[in-house]
Amino acid sequence: MNIHEYQAKILFDQFSVPSPRGMVADTSEEAAAAAVELGGDRVVVKSQIHAGGRGKGTFKNGFQGGVHLVASGEVAGIADRMIGEILVTKQTGEEGRLVRKVMVGEAVDISHEYYLAILMDRSACCPVIVASTEGGMDIEEVAEKDPGKILREHVHPLVGLQPYEVRKLTTGLGFTGDEAKQFGKLLGNLFRLFLECDCSMVEINPLVRTTDGRVLALDAKFNFDDNALYRHPEIVEFRDTEEEDPREVEASRHSLNYIGLDGNIACLVNGAGLAMATMDLIKHHGGEPANFLDVGGGASQEQVAAAFKIILSDEAVKAILVNIFGGIMDCDVIAHGVVAACEEVGLPIPLVIRLEGNNVAAGKATLVASGLNIITADNLADAAEKAVAVITD
Ligand code: ADP
Ligand code: MG
Repeated sequence: MNIHEYQAKILFDQFSVPSPRGMVADTSEEAAAAAVELGGDRVVVKSQIHAGGRGKGTFKNGFQGGVHLVASGEVAGIADRMIGEILVTKQTGEEGRLVRKVMVGEAVDISHEYYLAILMDRSACCPVIVASTEGGMDIEEVAEKDPGKILREHVHPLVGLQPYEVRKLTTGLGFTGDEAKQFGKLLGNLFRLFLECDCSMVEINPLVRTTDGRVLALDAKFNFDDNALYRHPEIVEFRDTEEEDPREVEASRHSLNYIGLDGNIACLVNGAGLAMATMDLIKHHGGEPANFLDVGGGASQEQVAAAFKIILSDEAVKAILVNIFGGIMDCDVIAHGVVAACEEVGLPIPLVIRLEGNNVAAGKATLVASGLNIITADNLADAAEKAVAVITD
């Protein structure tokens, strides 16, 4: 799950990670009032969407930039050109994202922009802190052109962040004196936030040194481990389903493990491992999966039907591959779910089914009795091959 920058600032405040003051606004009037409340002659107006690269983005109305430093008096006019408009950035894809809110923040005088992130390094099985003196820009670009400029510090998951690790990063980034102290404190607090909130990633790009000697987080991108969200009802409150893939929002309403992808062969599978193997085989045969979907071992007929309807609602989908190896899962429950969904919304595209295991005879009988036009497959490879063939033929 992701959150907006204005919500991230609430977490920063709770964990004493210094950042400029900011207020969120839904309308240009509210934005203007926020600027008055913040005081000062200059403020920053920032579009709130779950995507980075806003500063260099372009609105579909032609307006350049989703982040603007402006005089307080200009805030209403700028907010007006952002709210209700679609912002396209490097990370949104060409369809862009609708800006519903802006954040009005204290403008700071930047003397240098750094990059700072904490994320899980799965191969090292521990958190890693990534930092660079080359902040404010695309970190992937820095990694490619100047890999020496990227510092990495792995942190032992049980021992936690050690003072020597903080010192290594502090000197690596060139902080000295009071700024070194501020950075050390910020990093310690950010690491605590990362652990206590079960984040999978926190990225601050840029972290800045200001001309008046402050070290501040100017931007914030958070990613939370969905499997740990049950421990954080206050973070779940931050969820903005308007920013998520509608297919995934619907799937999560039915407790389905669904991830939308860009291909055209939809998959309905039981078990995450089998789902991944199914996607691999589709690709192996030259096709592209439209989604990852694991209905799990204990799915009900209603959940299967819901999953099937999500798949059918996706216009990109040209064929469906159902691959069930029923260990715990009852094949007949799957069959009834598929039939129920097709009765409700029809079956306008080819459906390839491979059923095996628990109660398979009843499942197959249910499918035959339904009269649905189904292509059956004997095994996984056969199923993948048939699904790819049916759209390329
Ligand atoms: P994005 O990464 O989505 O483009 P940022 O929050 O990083 O958005 O903002 C883009 C740039 O705008 C920053 O690199 C920084 O130079 C400038 N900026 C952002 N917030 C402020 C602020 N409060 N004061 C001054 N400049 C800012
Ligand atoms: Mg940024």
